[in-house]
Amino acid sequence: MTTNLLNYDAKGLADFCTEIGEKPFRAKQLLRWIHQSGITDFVDMSDLAKGLREKLAVLAVIESPQIISDYVAADGTRKWLLSVGAGNGIETVFIPEANRGTLCVSSQVGCALACTFCSTGKQGFNRNLTVAEIIGQLWIANKTLKADPNDTLTDNDRVVSNVVMMGMGEPLANFDNVVMALDLMLDDHAYGLSRRRVTVSTSGLVPAMDRLRERCPVALAVSLHAPNDSLRDQLVPINKKYPIKELLAACQRYLTAAPRDFITFEYVMLDGVNDSVGHAHELINLVQDTPCKFNLIPFNSFPGSGFKRSSAEAVRIFRDVLMQAGLVTTVRKTRGDDIAAACGQLAGQVRDKTRRTAGGKVE
Ligand code: SF4
Repeated sequence: MTTNLLNYDAKGLADFCTEIGEKPFRAKQLLRWIHQSGITDFVDMSDLAKGLREKLAVLAVIESPQIISDYVAADGTRKWLLSVGAGNGIETVFIPEANRGTLCVSSQVGCALACTFCSTGKQGFNRNLTVAEIIGQLWIANKTLKADPNDTLTDNDRVVSNVVMMGMGEPLANFDNVVMALDLMLDDHAYGLSRRRVTVSTSGLVPAMDRLRERCPVALAVSLHAPNDSLRDQLVPINKKYPIKELLAACQRYLTAAPRDFITFEYVMLDGVNDSVGHAHELINLVQDTPCKFNLIPFNSFPGSGFKRSSAEAVRIFRDVLMQAGLVTTVRKTRGDDIAAACGQLAGQVRDKTRRTAGGKVE
């Protein structure tokens, strides 16, 4: 039985080194080889003693998810469909921009939270991703993009300069594995990203938001999507358990430790559902005590969704109302349309392969 070293953060690797009779400081060397050099063959880890390399070759492996497909859109957005075994697929998206490269990472196969506008939510929940499967997405992206001569490097020669946990799944419902993967993203011997450049997006699991604040306070995005409980109950069912008042109180608590002095509220724009001027005014009242920014997301339709994207005009008016009230508001650009790269769309392609279960555990 071999051990997959991609499952370990610095402490886990140090413990592993001790277990196999090596000095724990070897963990730092291993981290650099695995995450910064993308090496999978222990023979190539030239600053490790030959005896240790031979021992590792017997006891350990470095195994990421397998790439099923790799699409590049006309606008440079790149999307990998990755196999995580047993016919299950997850998606990872890289979005290059002039001054940064953002990787959107998945945390679960499917999702139990069943937001009614979400393609992943419609699949049901299958399982949590392991640490190796979460950090493996960043590992694959770095390795693939660095090897691509057409890619220009962003600041500090990092191909991926920002990570958003906004792919398939609710990250805070897979808390321990996600936090260990976050530790690796922040570790200077691995990816060395600052806490400001790593964002966890949650639909509002209040107790887990508090735990994240204490354990690893990276930037936080909250999927709000509605300005009142009756509408949010319909769109984001977890709202029935943690209604907006509790959610906003958790946001306030989070801000005491957050690396940014605002929360990003995500708001999907659904035609005739949550996109009126009245809704915008309700939102303004709702968040008046919460330092925040809004990110309006034009809805990406998928078969059977039952929703339509708001018109460009409705989105513009909604944005203007928020901005006139002093709320910084951006509209998410629709990227990679030609490769179904918008959020959750690839999920449809793997849905048949994804076994459903009745639901996952939600804290
Ligand atoms: S929007 Fe996020 S939390 Fe809601 S069902 Fe989709 S993946 Fe899950």
